[in-house]
Amino acid sequence: MEKELARIKELRELLKRYSYEYYTLDKPTIPDSEYDALFRELEDLEAKHPEAYDENSITQRVGYEVLSEFKKVRHSRPMLSLGDVFSYEELKAWLKKITDVYGAIDFCVEYKIDGLAMNLFYEDGHFKQATTRGNGIEGEDVTSNVRTIRSIPKVIPYKAPYEIRGEIYMPKKSFIELNAKRLANNEEMFANPRNAAAGSIRQLDSRIAASRGLEGMWYYVPDDINAQSHYDSLLYAKKLGFVVNDENRLFKDAQEICDYIEEVAKIRHDLPYDIDGMVIKVNRYDIQEDLGFTSRVPKWAIAYKFPPEEATSVIEDIFITVGRTGKCTPNAKLKSVKLQGSTISYATLHNEDMIKQKDIRIGDTVIIRKAGDIIPEVVRSVKEKRDTSQVPFIFPDKCPVCGGKLYRLEGEAAHYCINSDCPAKVAQSIVHYASRNAMNIDGLGERKVEVFYEKGLLRSIEDIYTLASKRDLILSIDKFGEKSFENLIAAIENSKNNSLENLIFGLGIRQIGEKAAKILAQKFETMEALRKASIEELEAIRDIGAITAISVHDFFLDEHNKALIDNLALFGVNMKYLGAKIKVSPFNDKTVVLTGSLELYTRNEATKLLESLGAKVTSSVSKKTDFVIYGANAGSKYDKALSLGVKVLSEAEFKKMMEE
Ligand code: NAD
Repeated sequence: MEKELARIKELRELLKRYSYEYYTLDKPTIPDSEYDALFRELEDLEAKHPEAYDENSITQRVGYEVLSEFKKVRHSRPMLSLGDVFSYEELKAWLKKITDVYGAIDFCVEYKIDGLAMNLFYEDGHFKQATTRGNGIEGEDVTSNVRTIRSIPKVIPYKAPYEIRGEIYMPKKSFIELNAKRLANNEEMFANPRNAAAGSIRQLDSRIAASRGLEGMWYYVPDDINAQSHYDSLLYAKKLGFVVNDENRLFKDAQEICDYIEEVAKIRHDLPYDIDGMVIKVNRYDIQEDLGFTSRVPKWAIAYKFPPEEATSVIEDIFITVGRTGKCTPNAKLKSVKLQGSTISYATLHNEDMIKQKDIRIGDTVIIRKAGDIIPEVVRSVKEKRDTSQVPFIFPDKCPVCGGKLYRLEGEAAHYCINSDCPAKVAQSIVHYASRNAMNIDGLGERKVEVFYEKGLLRSIEDIYTLASKRDLILSIDKFGEKSFENLIAAIENSKNNSLENLIFGLGIRQIGEKAAKILAQKFETMEALRKASIEELEAIRDIGAITAISVHDFFLDEHNKALIDNLALFGVNMKYLGAKIKVSPFNDKTVVLTGSLELYTRNEATKLLESLGAKVTSSVSKKTDFVIYGANAGSKYDKALSLGVKVLSEAEFKKMMEE
């Protein structure tokens, strides 16, 4: 008994600390599943010991105290958390308790999006305020950040005050890109998309939030006078322009609910965003009201949590792989463990600093997770599990493949092998050239390239186009059949007809990803024109920065690269852009002034939109101004435009031009 009371105290302290790290710092130090298990343990012990009740216990509260930098806003109605279940038996028991009283009623089953809860408030048809959940009673006013999310309507066709709640989340793709950028800049990476979304929304500079690719999905309308049920309120919200999940389903039967959850569990890793469970809600408002709330959760809804996404393993060894740029990445060889349906034996450790920061040692027990569901990575080592057998990893000073000296560039976290003949670099550049989004040569993956390299059949990218003449040698390789050979040669032949962007991307020029390759191909149309481009010409292209411009320019100055491109052309590889021509917007290279109060966009939105269409937005009207876009009560700028003969556009005309 004493022991249990002491444990209650200990758990309350522990969970308070973890919540602070999770909600306030956006830096959890334990997996959610561990947190959930401790929370459960506390709930059970508190149920057993009502004498230990404390209204300040974490089981009686929502979230955590709000940060002080943002204005605090009191919610019109508390923003609560959700009770949770972890098995179908528990879920069925919860459903039965309700249907025993209310009979066969509808339940709405929804994805539980793993982001952060947000309340949006509209008045007179205009978006007025966005608030975080905070401690459930008071949240933070993050309006300026939420305003930057494009899919959130700024104007709705509904004049009465309107409130809607939902989740702001970071799509997996944005999360991976953001962490890659942070890694390159030697900044601390976010633990998961949820923390990244929460961290982005809490930025004081809204340009940062705007750059993070956030999205919103809306799932609850408190006090909806336009609907009789939850599901109908969401249909209405959709009509008003909110993003509502099309996968929400109504069911009466408990087994059907479980079947649907099972169905979603199978596809959830293919979704563009993380979901950590499903939410089951009583649909009818009158029954919701009857069931009511506790201080922490509504009694008419429950979350079914999916099994943990993180797993525990042991680092057996740490080894270095060398990429096509010569970048050396440390990787952990793990004791095999099942995670999200696949067996994980390796995980990336990113770079030397990361290993030091997280104090990861060979022999450590570690928590691993798939970042954005794709690449396994080590989240942290479990220091409590250490004995004396763990050994710190010393980053080598020589390339593990060619033995060349490794260099760490100023300001970069990565080490590089700078030997241009390093076999690992050559092989990786061939793998990259042949990869799907580059030249798409099916059958020339990493393993094959390694074998061909070892046998001396492939020692450069150009060699790919000589493989057809090495038929006998290739067929003599163990397990290489006639059919595979024919398919490989056909894929190589096909690659000659790719559009220029595939080739540019395939060449592996530093800083040039798929998007930049496409921009360059569209702009220059031929390899010849691109080769001749000056740094200034390259830099003048939107989305191509100074570093990228220099990188492209330098690439084409290199004799080795020049020869490679000439040789590829001789082999018949297409050097022209074959895609659609860029549509030039009517605002491209135009100077635009905004005046009056705009109704359809905020000033900021209209400016960003125009800039994305190639315009320069300035504040004063002169002869050089091409367009003045005016809203209500436009004054002197509008008059000046008319007197100078500058073309004026109403907001509606502007919108129409964009749509065209
Ligand atoms: P929760 O995330 O378990 O569930 C409630 C939230 O679900 C709502 O507030 C809402 O934001 C969200 N949600 C998503 N889709 C929804 C939908 N369709 N309908 C309704 N709500 C939906 O609860 P919580 O209070 O936000 O957080 C508690 C959870 O956070 C814990 O279970 C744990 O997993 C995690 N946590 C982890 C740590 C840690 O250290 N790892 C610390 C604290 C909390």
